[in-house]
Amino acid sequence: MSEASAERVPVEAGFFTIPDDPSASPQLLGSKCVECGEYFFPRRPICARCLAHGCEDVTLSSRGTLFTYTYVHFPLMNSQRADHGGYGVGQVDLPEGPRIQAVLSGGENDFQIGMEMELELETLRQNKQGQDVVIYRFRPSTDGEA
Ligand SMILES: [Zn+2]
Repeated sequence: MSEASAERVPVEAGFFTIPDDPSASPQLLGSKCVECGEYFFPRRPICARCLAHGCEDVTLSSRGTLFTYTYVHFPLMNSQRADHGGYGVGQVDLPEGPRIQAVLSGGENDFQIGMEMELELETLRQNKQGQDVVIYRFRPSTDGEA
């Protein structure tokens, strides 16, 4: 990738980190209840389990397990991606507990329920300031492949 110098900005603030190193994994921004220890995504001020106030901000794991998925045979809106045939949407269970719904990176036959997934960023478009506008998505983990 030769255009690594473009600054990356989130399509919406407060949901994920954007590492300075383009090869580093982003992380989802979640909450942890100080009373019962439950984790949530996206962030919330009040625990949905025990209703305690004062959840603390945490960064969540960038890896999880694919719980279920579907494949949408329609181009992703506002995307400059090359694979116009469609895209996957799935639910990924993080080790901390939250189930994350997200776009999946890969072809229709690249996914298997139960497989390990890894968070990454996708550039949707460039804004008028020349910044890359990015969303998070999950791709099948490449660990163990040469
Ligand atoms: Zn709680």
